[in-house]
Amino acid sequence: MIGAERYRTHTCLDAARAEGQTVRIAGWVHRRRDHGGVVFLDVRDRSGILQLVVHPDAGVVMDIAQRLSPEDVVSATGVLVGRSPETVNPKIATGRVELQIADLTLLAEAAPLPFSVEDEHTEAGEELRLTYRYLDLRRETRLRALELRGRVVRAIRGVLEHEGFLEVETPMLTRSTPEGARDFLVPSRLQQGSFYALPQSPQLFKQLLMVGGIERYYQVVRCFRDEDLRADRQPEFTQVDIEASFVEPRDIQRLIEQVLVAAWAEAGIALEVPFPRMTYDEAVRRFGSDRPDLRFGCEIRDWSAAAAASGLGVFGSVVSGGGVVRAIVIPGAGAGMSRKDLDGLVTEAQEFGAKGLVWAVPGSDGALRASVKSDFLAGLAEDLGAGEGDLIAIVADDEHRAHHVLGTLRTRWAERFGLIPDGVWAPLWVVDFPLVEWNADERRWDALHHPFTAPRPEDVPLLATDPGAVLAEAYDVVMNGLELGGGSIRINQTQLQERVFGVIGLDAEQAQERFGFLLRALELGAPPHGGVALGLDRLVMQLAGERSIRDVIAFPKTATGSDPLTGAPAGVDPPQLRELGIRSTVTPPQAATP
Ligand code: ASP
Repeated sequence: MIGAERYRTHTCLDAARAEGQTVRIAGWVHRRRDHGGVVFLDVRDRSGILQLVVHPDAGVVMDIAQRLSPEDVVSATGVLVGRSPETVNPKIATGRVELQIADLTLLAEAAPLPFSVEDEHTEAGEELRLTYRYLDLRRETRLRALELRGRVVRAIRGVLEHEGFLEVETPMLTRSTPEGARDFLVPSRLQQGSFYALPQSPQLFKQLLMVGGIERYYQVVRCFRDEDLRADRQPEFTQVDIEASFVEPRDIQRLIEQVLVAAWAEAGIALEVPFPRMTYDEAVRRFGSDRPDLRFGCEIRDWSAAAAASGLGVFGSVVSGGGVVRAIVIPGAGAGMSRKDLDGLVTEAQEFGAKGLVWAVPGSDGALRASVKSDFLAGLAEDLGAGEGDLIAIVADDEHRAHHVLGTLRTRWAERFGLIPDGVWAPLWVVDFPLVEWNADERRWDALHHPFTAPRPEDVPLLATDPGAVLAEAYDVVMNGLELGGGSIRINQTQLQERVFGVIGLDAEQAQERFGFLLRALELGAPPHGGVALGLDRLVMQLAGERSIRDVIAFPKTATGSDPLTGAPAGVDPPQLRELGIRSTVTPPQAATP
């Protein structure tokens, strides 16, 4: 172990295995208890916690021990002895032994803490915990998450290096890369009025590395996207970014399967390969999502034809207007629900964009409790195979919205009603994504992945006639309903790239202006190539069993993109702005300093 003997000869965990020996350990005072003259100190280091004992006759050592406060940093020497059977603590790895202290040194004092780090749970709010993130990191779950993250990255690197991938760094100060988000801009001092963009991903550089003959590239890399933050978003996040030449989608998919097997093995989980595959179209139709959670059923079912004939006006008019009537069945969920609870589901559906929701719950006598007269729902339970107490939810709308609403409710309700089994891992490849999607607000086609994604060769003619029908050589890898990553085969022909730019509304001049360097590179011998990027934060979050990526990032930002620890983002001095040729039109709010 690296470290100075002056401070320690053993970690707490190693010391616990050295019964009968004299050892020195160092760490933080986790807890101190005075028991009728005997003082017990729990000292914590990264390896764990060790109990130290100071006897009443310990003289100066006792004086020091009695004055210790939580989180003081100490070094202690003593003999490691077994505990008496009745004092063994089976809950901790070092619980059979304790250190009889002969010598104790206070290395650093800790002032009273803003919140206790002794227990895993704290009442302290997130803002306070992020302000003192270094204290929060002392908590075991935080520490174990970072350790897991470190091991996962090492395992991933191991697979990629073994497969001949070379880690290459790409610029942080660059031009905008279109991944569909807003850029973070960095003003240039030397060329006032010009800006760098922080990369949303190294997409263009990794393609240029392929043109450069690198053949197999990877990078564990920070990416920046200036988006409105949600629970699982951070303005800066980490990707495992990969690109390879002379590959087909299957090659990249097999590689990622290996990578994920290695990552999951770090958490003691064996994943089976190959992962199942599903087309985008099927995923949306059956699960209302392009990242379906396959750990449970409750698939979306079509009830349009029966609904049209049911006599209920709204069903009839939706279907005759080209819409659909779709339903999900949540087993057992309706049994204990009151009318008020059930009506609450309608409001919930409306929050996700539904115009309304029809619910129905079959009773024991075959009768239906429902939000509309049950005459309108004749045959419903049989058609959907729903039994007593099951909750049936029906949405009548255009297909897109019906899928979206029911897909969202499906996962929310499965969780709420306990339908998601523990310890099940359901990886999936979603393939055959559309190349572009219609942006109704802007009245134009947008790239679904990014504009460098190759269309399927057989669909290229459709670019001119029916862009919405073109499928892409793109793939996403999904685990338990979470998108872990995605990628595609790229366009390696200038002409095709120009055509795709054209479809998404970039004329030749604009394409040249923004991506001229790429188009030029594609003219100079660009091998067929493709790749993928995995979201490392999400992957580790899932493996660590956490619900937010903030829990697996050492220094994350809050939902408003600020860092309460350093006070970033913050105003800058006027001279700094002058150097950049920038004048601010707003005064930044005064950051609260801790
Ligand atoms: N650059 C893409 C992304 O960040 C991934 C890829 O296509 O490789 O999502």
